[in-house]
Amino acid sequence: MAYEAVWMKDPSKLNKFEFVKMEKDGLDVIRTIIDQYAAEGYDSITEDDMNRFKWAGVYEQKPRDGHFMMRVRINTGIITSEQARALASIARDYGRDLIDVTTRQAIQYHWLRVEHLPDIFKRLEAVGLYSYEACGDCPRTIVGNPLAGIDKDELMDTREIVEQINDFFLMNRDFSNLPRKYKMSISANIYNNAHAEINDLAYVPATKVIDGQEVIGFHAYVGGGLSAKPHLAQELDIFIRPEEALKVAIGVTTIFRDYGYREKRHQARLKFLVADWGPEKFKEKLIEIIGDMPSKGESKIAGWNAVYYDGVYPQAQEGLNFIGLNVPVGRTNADEFEQLADVADQYGDGKIRTTMSQNIMLSGIPTEKVEEALKAPVLQRLSPNAKHFMSRTVSCTGNEFCNLAVVETKVRAVRVAEYLDANVELDEKIRIHFIGCPNACGQKHIADIGLQGSLVKTPEGMVDAFDIAVGGILGPGAKFNQALKGRVKGDDVAEVLAKLILFYKEGRESGESFHNY
Ligand code: SF4
Repeated sequence: MAYEAVWMKDPSKLNKFEFVKMEKDGLDVIRTIIDQYAAEGYDSITEDDMNRFKWAGVYEQKPRDGHFMMRVRINTGIITSEQARALASIARDYGRDLIDVTTRQAIQYHWLRVEHLPDIFKRLEAVGLYSYEACGDCPRTIVGNPLAGIDKDELMDTREIVEQINDFFLMNRDFSNLPRKYKMSISANIYNNAHAEINDLAYVPATKVIDGQEVIGFHAYVGGGLSAKPHLAQELDIFIRPEEALKVAIGVTTIFRDYGYREKRHQARLKFLVADWGPEKFKEKLIEIIGDMPSKGESKIAGWNAVYYDGVYPQAQEGLNFIGLNVPVGRTNADEFEQLADVADQYGDGKIRTTMSQNIMLSGIPTEKVEEALKAPVLQRLSPNAKHFMSRTVSCTGNEFCNLAVVETKVRAVRVAEYLDANVELDEKIRIHFIGCPNACGQKHIADIGLQGSLVKTPEGMVDAFDIAVGGILGPGAKFNQALKGRVKGDDVAEVLAKLILFYKEGRESGESFHNY
């Protein structure tokens, strides 16, 4: 350890898992997987190392019978067609053909076995991709503007900044033992399309006049996060010039590492420290670490787009377009991914872009080629014109694979969306998010209608049920959705939502939208 691990001074303030991390750094498990577990097999994995597998981006899936899920970091959601083909080949060879797009723009596999992991790591690395630290108590995938570089609504292209910060933190042992997971978001899109408020550290677009010149840079938010106790991130009174983006990220992450709580794991996220300190004290500590910073300039956030782009849009570059496609509940497969890579190469700029709404975009398509591109067979299921509710439904993994899940989510979410599309007509798009437990990977709290899985007692025994919350929104006026009374049985969700939406439709006033009804 190159730095002074200040938290070790008082071991009585450390939860059990802190000792697991101290005994062996999470990153060390990658070497153990390659050198030992891949050869000796699933049964040889110790309990502590199984917990450290997260640093390799790998979790045990349900049931615990030797299969794993893996997340692959996709910085700011942009990959090349070559990377897409490598991802597809891994899914086909090891992951029973399944590819999930997650709400953090990552790619998630299932069905992997420990003996496959070294080859998967190698194949990813060969195309510049990594699963390392996609999970674990460390800086995870940096989410961002999936349209960076082509976006009419961005103040600057943030790709280089994201890469710089990613390269600094990835596999950096000074920051591989944080109190808990740590999520960053960097976007210069004026519609907050990287969900700043639900991240531990987020950069949003801003400007400030410095020495008589208008400088484009960022404002910073800290301490956001979901789960059972959701917090909206709070704004720091600083202005960040692009060349200072890394310095600020190091400062904030250092505060989390050294002052973050390590006593109770459920209170260890940065949000709890920020809530206790407040943004002023947090800023003072940050300045103590990185030196003085200019105070805030002018925010350029003009609203919120929850990263939905259905259909064809012009890019910042004259004559070029991107196409937003719907991936129903984020689930696709190796064949479709390869076909997307082919379409990206044949008609576009060879890029595939993943979104926090679990969807995909293809870019760099000249106007005269758009019509032909839209005829590609893969765009018939992954459609740019998906039906209303299907196009706005997000779901976490649920109990199909997740050991923490209380209920099934993805299949149910598709059924509910299909029912609503068949039975409800509405001139406003309503976002519906499903989660299988309070951990909120499906970001239920920011949905128009958020559904959280639980169980309910019936004469026939315990059955799947959902708590419903309405009215979540980010951007100006950000708020989490509010719980409605009662709990709805899983089988009744579609009909109850249909009634709820029709009730809203009949009662709304002109100009009113679902989140402020
Ligand atoms: Fe699993 Fe819960 Fe996350 Fe869903 S929200 S993927 S059930 S941990």
